[in-house]
Amino acid sequence: MEMFYHSTRDVNNFVTSKQAILTGIAPDGGLYVSDELGKEQLDLAALPAQTYHEHARAVLGMLLSDYTSEEIASCVAGAYADNFDTPDVTPVTPLGSDWLLELYHGPTCAFKDVALQMLPRLMSVARDPEGDRIMIVTATSGDTGKAALAGFAGVDGCGVTVFYPEGKVSDIQHLQMATQEGRNVAVCGVKGTFDDCQTEVKNIFADKGLAARLAEHNVALSSANSINVGRLVPQVVYYVDAYAQLVRRGAIKLGDPVDFCVPTGNFGDVLAGYYAKLLGLPVGKLIVASNSNKVLTDFLETGIYDRRRPFMKTISPSMDILVSSNLERMLYYLTEGDTQQVSAWMSDLNQKGFYNIGEDYLAKLRQTFECGYATDKETKATIRTTWEQEGKLIDTHTAVAKTVLDRFDSQGRARVCLSTANAYKFSSDVLDALGERTGNMDDFACMDELQDVTGVPAPPQLSGLRSAAILHDSTCQRSSMTYFVEKSAKRIFR
Ligand SMILES: *Cc1c(COP(=O)(O)O)cnc(C)c1O
Repeated sequence: MEMFYHSTRDVNNFVTSKQAILTGIAPDGGLYVSDELGKEQLDLAALPAQTYHEHARAVLGMLLSDYTSEEIASCVAGAYADNFDTPDVTPVTPLGSDWLLELYHGPTCAFKDVALQMLPRLMSVARDPEGDRIMIVTATSGDTGKAALAGFAGVDGCGVTVFYPEGKVSDIQHLQMATQEGRNVAVCGVKGTFDDCQTEVKNIFADKGLAARLAEHNVALSSANSINVGRLVPQVVYYVDAYAQLVRRGAIKLGDPVDFCVPTGNFGDVLAGYYAKLLGLPVGKLIVASNSNKVLTDFLETGIYDRRRPFMKTISPSMDILVSSNLERMLYYLTEGDTQQVSAWMSDLNQKGFYNIGEDYLAKLRQTFECGYATDKETKATIRTTWEQEGKLIDTHTAVAKTVLDRFDSQGRARVCLSTANAYKFSSDVLDALGERTGNMDDFACMDELQDVTGVPAPPQLSGLRSAAILHDSTCQRSSMTYFVEKSAKRIFR
């Protein structure tokens, strides 16, 4: 079936999935959605015998219908090859009486690799080879930057520029970016905060003069952030694949519902689970787990989304978010495509700082979504008990989800906790959670100590950073970021 996409705020102006992936966000500020989603259903009976690659080809083929099957097959083969440290790509392993879906086996040890290894390939195929080259520009508070660099490095017709706040990312995160190889990548530390970087990147996208100057060199800017259809769709695959793994293990029978608990920030990961449900996967409950920035917990309890609250810095920084952008897509499907209603809520959020979906919509949402949050203290306690009782070393984000999951009664259902990062990405907090002293130790000392204490080996992608050559040492003032993008574009697209 042919699928077209349009904005969550407007039912006109249809685009193909290739166009949606190239542009990222709709011109009116809405997110691309498709009304055909779910009209074609997964072939459930076929799932258990299929590999990850086959699941990926099936899901991408359904949702990105203007890509040929050859194009999809080559993107899948390239994205999930030996850049993942297991052929299973996203293995499911036991976690007490539940299951852990390990999404951190990619090149940067975090779940964003699953999408960011795929997005550049989808963009490269969608791009007119005679047309503009694409420069991705992104601001990062730590994790996304490296995953974007690793995904776009070496991809034909694309370049990537990453800005991070100098001195405000961890040693490991800094080294992950500073050692990135590839002639089409650029990295720059900005004197300022993450918000400064992000605000200035928005200005860069809105800068008509810059766009015109880049266009003279046949270069167009684009973004790789999590609202892009090309990041969302690859995430649907691991829900389908996890389900198949549980059938193969004999944990469930084909057709049995499975609950998923998801450590949530921007609502992209958990939304992918909802898409899997719409495609016919027997998904029971989707549990939205938050840290102390519990705007989503409050929303799912009251129907009021209220971002007017202090921002908390937690030990699960990738979930430190007050505006979960991908929720807008959920609202579109919740209202059965009422774009006027969605626009009104989004404008309330912008102007008043909150919106209220009312009791009826809330009740409908609660048919699928459960919620809960964990404080840093609870998160650390979970890391410790999970290590002591199950022998599993989990990271701070995964521990938020496990804390929340443990509060619910499984009622005999199979339950999957999504694990979004390798524990070694957050060595010092994990070490601290295990009750060890971290004192003045740097990230590498914490990594060594964590290995000594647990015997679990640190992934070579992280431990190898210690001796990797520094390839990027640029820094700039916020006011020079535009110039840095222009200079990088000239170098990369000579
Ligand atoms: C990005 C991220 C999340 C949150 O995912 P969303 O799709 O933004 O909800 C959770 N854990 C880790 C480790 C992440 O990097």
